[in-house]
Amino acid sequence: MSAQPSLTYSGDVAAEPADITLVLDFLNTLDVEDDVDVLRESGTWRQWAQDRGLRAGALTAGVQARDALRAAVGDPAARQERVRTAIQIELTGAGPELTSTDAVGAVLAAAARLNVLGEWERMKICPADDCRWAFFDHSRNRSRTWCSMQVCGNREKARAWRERAAAEQAGQGAAIE
Ligand SMILES: [Zn+2]
Repeated sequence: MSAQPSLTYSGDVAAEPADITLVLDFLNTLDVEDDVDVLRESGTWRQWAQDRGLRAGALTAGVQARDALRAAVGDPAARQERVRTAIQIELTGAGPELTSTDAVGAVLAAAARLNVLGEWERMKICPADDCRWAFFDHSRNRSRTWCSMQVCGNREKARAWRERAAAEQAGQGAAIE
């Protein structure tokens, strides 16, 4: 689904909302349902980065990083690739601070912070083939599967029901013969 599901930040989640949002936004630069890909051309990619106060960098690097990141959260259509990026960290009296404004670097740094906090596994891709929307699972036991139970969860349940009904009908047909 293309609309961001409403997010309720549970007290159990240690991650920074800004990190979650940045990684989610980057993952969802590919919108399977609406066939929108921000990384299809450098103009929209530059705009995406600029809107977040970041520098876009090469389009190919962005595509590669997004593919790898989507593969890492379980998108079956994404290629698993090894991605390396250089980030700049400045050590000041206030402690280490990320100063790189490269979009891929900023996204991967945010993803790494989520991982360090043990929150990376909350990053998920909706398993519905025509959706594959990335979302952050805020549930206490990290059990959420669908981007939205109202949309994809119900659609999947309806599909399973139809298949079961069709299978039963086919079974009855065979029994009568
Ligand atoms: Zn979905």
